Amino acid sequence: MVRVIMLSPPGAGKGTHSRWLTLQTGAAHISAGDLLRAEVERGSELGRQVATYTSRGDLVPDELIFSILAPVVVAAARDTGGYVLDGFPRTMPQALRAAQFGAELGLSSNAVIYLTAPEEELVNRLLDRARRDGRPDDQLGIIRHRLAVFASETAPLVDYYRGRGILLELSTNRPEAEVQADLLNWLEARGLMPPVPRGSSLNHSNPVGATPPDTGDLPRGDQPVNQA
Ligand code: AMP
Repeated sequence: MVRVIMLSPPGAGKGTHSRWLTLQTGAAHISAGDLLRAEVERGSELGRQVATYTSRGDLVPDELIFSILAPVVVAAARDTGGYVLDGFPRTMPQALRAAQFGAELGLSSNAVIYLTAPEEELVNRLLDRARRDGRPDDQLGIIRHRLAVFASETAPLVDYYRGRGILLELSTNRPEAEVQADLLNWLEARGLMPPVPRGSSLNHSNPVGATPPDTGDLPRGDQPVNQA
């Protein structure tokens, strides 16, 4: 079963492709950003703390994100047999701690998908999303800051996971269906896709037609852009 980390700068398509992969595999989609936004919406003390970081486009402290995510990942792996981790880890300390935690519990990641697109494309996609969804951190200055944070804090994880031999780099500057076909072929070649039971709604023999019904934060279809 897939235990996947989706690693990408903001706007490269990790939400979209995580949701799609979840439909293809049955593994739970766990979005670090969604969990944090839910905490902010609850208006709890923790949510207020979280908002001081997320509103500026800064990462929340490693300890805080780990304490929120760890129980969710354990429950997801127990309930669905895998996970699609969208937006975690994002720093080297998070990655090292996740690796240790995964090894102790037999939940180590077996694939890391690194999605890329040119910087101006990322900015345009996020500004589009701002017009649609009004996410408070999708403003030009904060977007630029989030991209800089990705470059300094998260980009080093690419070489770390490449060195472990579990990284697939995919450009999302092309139609979604092509990205998904490449992703599926790679996961299948590594024996990570679950067998498709007869009559199952899992449809990984036809990735091109397998667009999720939930449009989430991004438009779908054959558009080469707008994958965030
Ligand atoms: P995202 O929805 O993935 O774009 O994340 C939105 C925001 O949540 C980020 O800009 C960070 O402020 C925070 N965040 C998400 N994931 C993490 C993480 N793994 N570590 C620290 N902060 C995070």
